Amino acid sequence: MKPQYGLFIRQLIRVCGNNGYWLKNLGSVGDKPIWFIRTAELNPDLPNLLIVAGFHGEEKAGPWGILKWLEAKKEVKANISCIPIVNPTGFNLGKRYNTWGEKSNGGFYLTKKGNGPSEEGKILIANKDLIIASSKDGMLSTHEDITSKDYYVYTFEHHRIPGKFTCGLLETLGKHFEKPLNNIQVNTDASDPGPYVVNGLVYRYCDGSFEDWLFKEGSARTAVTETPAHRIRLQRRVLATIDIINKFIDLCIEGD
Ligand code: ZN
Repeated sequence: MKPQYGLFIRQLIRVCGNNGYWLKNLGSVGDKPIWFIRTAELNPDLPNLLIVAGFHGEEKAGPWGILKWLEAKKEVKANISCIPIVNPTGFNLGKRYNTWGEKSNGGFYLTKKGNGPSEEGKILIANKDLIIASSKDGMLSTHEDITSKDYYVYTFEHHRIPGKFTCGLLETLGKHFEKPLNNIQVNTDASDPGPYVVNGLVYRYCDGSFEDWLFKEGSARTAVTETPAHRIRLQRRVLATIDIINKFIDLCIEGD
């Protein structure tokens, strides 16, 4: 497979230049930076939302969806920050984990089962203050399940049962894909075996993942969306990702 990172970053830098976004290198994995992007001017009266993708290198719709969303430059009533590719060495080769095979979405805090953070995780943790401030009112991490034809989400809300935020994200995925994954056990980077997905949902599952960590650190709500990628064209998954990003922003602005 042709390396992808250079092509993606060239387009990302062009879009950021054209649309006046601010870029920061959070740190490099090997020779590849993890880029953090946000609107140049922060408005202190608006919510702070973080959108990330590319924890797993073979899950392409998230990074490309964020890039297309940034390109469209939609005006929103929120301070938006993005990390389009968390795992640049994995993305470059279309491989799930980084060059050293480390699992990227675990170890953000110590759990009984999990390992410590990967190289990417260490860089995110080193930028903790910036990341926590950027995700204060919500964080969305877009993933894909390349083995599945069905969609699902992992969410964290400050309610005993899933609220508007979770339901809104599931509803949006339901507009793009046939049905939610149901009664299937899935593995996460920090737990193998992992949780059961029931009616497309895993709710408040604590395993030291990025979304779990930021919720514990005080984010109002966090989510992982899993677009199904088994025999579904990339373009369709990218369009779904853009729709999910827009819905996530609307739901966070609306609040609980
Ligand atoms: Zn993933």
